[in-house]
Amino acid sequence: NLAKEQRLGFRRFSNTGTGDSNARLTLLGDLRRALDTGDEITLNYQPKIDIGTGELAGVEALARWQHPTKGPISPGTFIPVLEATTLIHRFTHQVLTEALTQVRTWLDLGHRVPVAVNISTRSLLDPAFPNLVASLLQQARVPGEQLCIEVTEHSIMTDPNTAIEALHRLRSLGVKTSIDDYGTGYSSMTYLRLLPLDELKIDRSFIKDLVTDTGSHALVASTVELGHNLGLAVVAEGIEDADTLSALHELGCDLAQGYHLARPMTADALTQRIHRPAAMVA
Ligand code: C2E
Ligand code: MG
Ligand code: MG
Ligand code: MG
Repeated sequence: NLAKEQRLGFRRFSNTGTGDSNARLTLLGDLRRALDTGDEITLNYQPKIDIGTGELAGVEALARWQHPTKGPISPGTFIPVLEATTLIHRFTHQVLTEALTQVRTWLDLGHRVPVAVNISTRSLLDPAFPNLVASLLQQARVPGEQLCIEVTEHSIMTDPNTAIEALHRLRSLGVKTSIDDYGTGYSSMTYLRLLPLDELKIDRSFIKDLVTDTGSHALVASTVELGHNLGLAVVAEGIEDADTLSALHELGCDLAQGYHLARPMTADALTQRIHRPAAMVA
């Protein structure tokens, strides 16, 4: 079993027992097949809404895996498994290709819908990553400005120098950069100032208690201010009700995402909603 794992390039974690490790290995085999066939893993798109105007500012691509026998498996489960192997690079390649092809389709329909793609630590830190992005943009005939790369504080802090260099190279292509799940990591003020970013996304854990918890409210208020002082657009994720949305509006937050506004949906469903813009704001 160990030999097989080594052959597959599976990184062992000290806290995974044998049973757990077998489950991951099965999942890994299934993921390899899914990446080969290319029809089990698809993308959903969740709108990013301009809080001031209610308009669609862009979408975030979110991976969905429909396992043939186990049903839907969430990205929170399968992405860490991919991330532990070099398969993550194939996955990132496929996700970027699909997302950019979709942006091109929307552009051809006359809609400008910038897409944000989540990028895992290993892909961000891969020295070949910025060139991959450049060639995929060219292949899809999509301007760099129509793509946003979302990276977490955790990814950046894994190797700040490499991450900063990658972000600079992406921005030189016109690609936008966003720090995701902001507030859950441990990036210092020093790094935040050095990072070549366009956008800061406040993590859902702060947003969900915004109206009920004064501590969360204070943190969100100061994060919006910090982001603006650094010249960044500020996005709140995980908005589930109207009160939270209006509190964010009062705080001057720029963009919002959440079930209250729109759930992640298929590309076709999103195209339908673009044709019925009033339905975008609940
Ligand atoms: P994330 O980038 O922070 O994405 C936001 C997550 O919150 C998504 O979960 C989304 O469906 C969910 N969400 C959106 N609005 C609400 C809301 O109002 N309430 C609640 N409770 N949840 C909401 P999802 O799709 O399960 O993705 C989870 C995480 O998996 C993402 O977090 C991201 O880190 C990762 N992920 C998803 N797709 C990809 C991908 O293509 N590549 C990589 N590397 N990571 C991905
Ligand atoms: Mg994200
Ligand atoms: Mg997020
Ligand atoms: Mg999150």
